[in-house]
Amino acid sequence: MQGYERVRLQLSECNVLGVVGLGPPQLLGEVPGPTPEHGVAEEADRHGPDAGEPVESDIWRDLAAVHGLVHGRQRLRTQERRRKKLVLGPDLDPLIRQVENDAAVDDESGHPLSTLPKEVRPLDVVGHSAQSHASLVPMRATVMYGAGDVRVETVPDARLVEPTDALVTVTRSAICGSDLWPYKQMERSETGRRMGHEFIGVVEAVGDEVRTVKPGDVVVTPFVWSDGTCVFCREGLHTSCLHGGRYGFDGVDGGQGEAVRVPQADGTLVVLPVERDDALMPSLLTLSDVMATGHHAARSAEVGPGKTVAVVGDGAVGLCGVIASRRLGAERIIVLGRHPDRIALAKQFGATDVVSERGDEAVERVRELTDGFGAHSALECVGLEQSTVTALTIVRPGGAVGRVGVPQEESIPDAQPTFFDNVTIAGGPAPARAYIEELLPDVLEGRIEPGRVFDRVGPLDEVPDGYRAMDDREAIKVMIEL
Ligand SMILES: [Zn+2]
Repeated sequence: MQGYERVRLQLSECNVLGVVGLGPPQLLGEVPGPTPEHGVAEEADRHGPDAGEPVESDIWRDLAAVHGLVHGRQRLRTQERRRKKLVLGPDLDPLIRQVENDAAVDDESGHPLSTLPKEVRPLDVVGHSAQSHASLVPMRATVMYGAGDVRVETVPDARLVEPTDALVTVTRSAICGSDLWPYKQMERSETGRRMGHEFIGVVEAVGDEVRTVKPGDVVVTPFVWSDGTCVFCREGLHTSCLHGGRYGFDGVDGGQGEAVRVPQADGTLVVLPVERDDALMPSLLTLSDVMATGHHAARSAEVGPGKTVAVVGDGAVGLCGVIASRRLGAERIIVLGRHPDRIALAKQFGATDVVSERGDEAVERVRELTDGFGAHSALECVGLEQSTVTALTIVRPGGAVGRVGVPQEESIPDAQPTFFDNVTIAGGPAPARAYIEELLPDVLEGRIEPGRVFDRVGPLDEVPDGYRAMDDREAIKVMIEL
């Protein structure tokens, strides 16, 4: 660990010099002399008697730093190159080009630092390279300032803070139906709120205590982070983790951005056995939230072989609820919805009946389809009062309602009828971390294709229009490619 500190300090100094605009000779050689109180004296010894002279290992370290920078953005755009040139100075351009070329080769091997000499390849150098990357190229992310006001703008760089953190470069992200609640209602805020909690990315760096993920891993995150070790995590209820939290709050980055600091990386991230641009990415991304949430609705509603299921809501979660119900063996799946494109998809996912009526008429229709009894299982995938009432009244005596739509009302209606019918009312936020491992093999082997809920894909800049499109019901769900 001493070595880690040493290298980190030395590189930090290099970076500071680079950022304030000193030219390459200073960047590579004239690093301020090491100070013993910072524990870098030994490092200076290794460099030889004069730490002020440019030495090969310093150069390699800076190469490592720039290399990390390049690897973090495999698709360097002209604009980014220009920015780097501004920051690093024109003389470093050949160095960047050289490293870009190396990166192109290395990206295929998946080992970004494989061309570097062994002695400068420890984890801490890799880790630091990401910090260099973050500090040299301004990071962009989605910020919401109030209802209808979503912007993509420069934000403070994502970086490691706790030893249990991982720094993840986002490669795919998504807009969630739950993001539309603040989009409709959020009060004006001067500072704004960072958005996004569904993403897949590549680990760029990890803290000292992280053991289960490493730089280069392609990872998916559940929509909340958790330690994986507390009493609730051990029971599979990671959403109630004693040391967990939400993306976009308390100094943690949101997922609709270029990079994210993931707290409790060991307990949170799941390594995916695929390359970063695998064709399965859309379906893998749904494990972050919607597919796990649809599965949770089905589990909470006690879906099983031979049962009749009614799914209230034809949004992405409802559609995933259809997939989950079929996967769990439901015999009949009635979807309540009225958008033709969504209904078509629901049928492809396994819905056997469609009810397009609303309110009392919808209840009537479901009863007709179920010998007057109602469904064994009702999946409430919206959260509004009307949809909740519908779910509670189309379930048969002894049945179960699985609620996964974030309730927009304080109390659950129909207390007496559901009491006298012995209806189970369950559900809440899905412990996606627990479900990812269960659902992942089905995605990898193509048994389920939840990624088909994404009917619009765009770059980070199109996030604001993605919110509008989902809010206008033009899009079912929007995927962001970075
Ligand atoms: Zn926990």
